[in-house]
Amino acid sequence: MGTGRFYITAAIDYPNALPHIGTAYEKIGADVIARYKALCGLDSFFVMGTDEHSANVEKAAEEQGVSPQEFTDSVAPKFLEAWRTLGIGYTSFVRSSSERHARSVQDIFQKIYEKGDIYEGFYEGWYCNSCERFFQQKDLDGELCPTHRRPVEWVKERNYIFALSRYSGRILKHIRENPGFIEPESRRNEMLSLIEGGLEDISVSRVAKKWGIPLPFDSSQTIYVWFDALICYLTGIGYSDDSEMFARYWPADVHVIGKDITRFHCAIWPAMLMAAGIPLPKKIWAHGFVHLDGQKLSKTAGVMVDPVEAANKYGADALRYFLMREIPFDRDGDFSWAKFEERYAADLANDLGNLVNRVIAMIGRYCGGKVPQPSTLQPIDAEIAELAEQTVKNAGSAIDEFRLSSALVEIWAFVSRCNRYVEETAPWKVRKEGTKERLDTILYVLAEAVRIIGGLILPFMPRTADRICQQLGLERDSGHLRRDALENWGRVAPGTRVREPQPLFPKMA
Ligand SMILES: [Zn+2]
Repeated sequence: MGTGRFYITAAIDYPNALPHIGTAYEKIGADVIARYKALCGLDSFFVMGTDEHSANVEKAAEEQGVSPQEFTDSVAPKFLEAWRTLGIGYTSFVRSSSERHARSVQDIFQKIYEKGDIYEGFYEGWYCNSCERFFQQKDLDGELCPTHRRPVEWVKERNYIFALSRYSGRILKHIRENPGFIEPESRRNEMLSLIEGGLEDISVSRVAKKWGIPLPFDSSQTIYVWFDALICYLTGIGYSDDSEMFARYWPADVHVIGKDITRFHCAIWPAMLMAAGIPLPKKIWAHGFVHLDGQKLSKTAGVMVDPVEAANKYGADALRYFLMREIPFDRDGDFSWAKFEERYAADLANDLGNLVNRVIAMIGRYCGGKVPQPSTLQPIDAEIAELAEQTVKNAGSAIDEFRLSSALVEIWAFVSRCNRYVEETAPWKVRKEGTKERLDTILYVLAEAVRIIGGLILPFMPRTADRICQQLGLERDSGHLRRDALENWGRVAPGTRVREPQPLFPKMA
């Protein structure tokens, strides 16, 4: 272990509005996977960023009377702050207006141009400034963008065109030969039928837009914002400034994206990479949408949840748990405050919080604050040890397959079993009526179970895992919560001094 690497990305967001619950959901999911891979001993690298050369950004800047660069310079720190609050542990954050990114984009553009797959031509079509894409008449909803329900504009200009159509066959072949390339399966089928219908060449430069990266050989035009944004995945691992690092991490193991941008990632992006002579990513994972009380999120309709506000009120880990538990990573799901509060009280405060609290308190009271020395395990103890081992395996394979909600279901079944074990073994009775050996063994089993639960929840709830570690008296970064340590029963050393129990999830007023 330790030599392998894992490269994951989340989508690069427009910074004209702060992250909403759907954006947060995606980043948390990617963060869970990235953290899990690190616990498995892989060199896990996680890139995200902001897609700044957008008409949305230009418009927001104009409304505030500042330049687009001044505008993005003022909002980018707010994004970083929001991600910090939510416990997103990205390795590299790419702002697409950065100089290192401009060099990546111009380099790729030049390569594809020299290969002859970018040509000058005349382009016309309906354009939605919010999607930043052209539409054919048949794809419009009357005269409106089908996604944004806003009027599209007719654009007709002389610009540079990417010969996407030349790549249809190769992309189709790749998708068919690599069933894991696009997941879940519903998205792969969607993309297959889209590409089977044939891909058309797309315009990759704009004349009228000043806010953007200029073409390397024609500064009167700027590079199409999607062509620019996708390349953030390369910039983040050093494409333009650290070739050794780039060679280490590329190709990406997975791009995590929303299902609304699969066309860009599954058709345009592979074609760009093929044209530039760069290997394709191993997987594109398209998650579903978060709805609020059954309604589509919408700023204009006031259907919104501010993830930072939720995290400030309940703790980021509670929000992370809820989103990952309630909304499976491969389909749409629903956020509701009532359900959130229910799970907070039942799963977190009651099941997990009480278990940890009782175990730490009993070790404090019955064992002088030190993890006791166990004797021979009885069948009921061995059952806990075996279930722990099984849960580590099952939750691990669930995360490997991005079934994040299933992983939590497995983990919580173990938490519940441990709570029942406390009731069944009744240490408070054993203390009065049983032997010290038996009491010590039960409490050792529970200390171990709590350590393993700490490691299991770490990818989902990093701060809570940290607090469990602290209360158990385990040193931070001592490796007790790593995947290989979770597979080994008996890692907590007898004699370890536990701390004062602190409630992990305080009751909400
Ligand atoms: Zn649109």
